[in-house]
Amino acid sequence: MPGPVAVAQGDVVILRKQHPCGGASWSVTRTGADIGLLCGTCGRRIMLDREEFERRLVRLDRPSEPGAAC
Ligand SMILES: [Zn+2]
Repeated sequence: MPGPVAVAQGDVVILRKQHPCGGASWSVTRTGADIGLLCGTCGRRIMLDREEFERRLVRLDRPSEPGAAC
């Protein structure tokens, strides 16, 4: 379904393109026009604009919402 991805601070996302450190999972540190991401493996921070972020997004996990994965 098209439309903006409902991403929120604290979400864990899997991106198509791996970080050079080998990590593919990222924590969302800020949202808005740009999405701030923290590498779950090496702890580096990057910023992606929303369009780029949605293109690379593979999966979004939201551990703060149990039962949402259905
Ligand atoms: Zn990394």
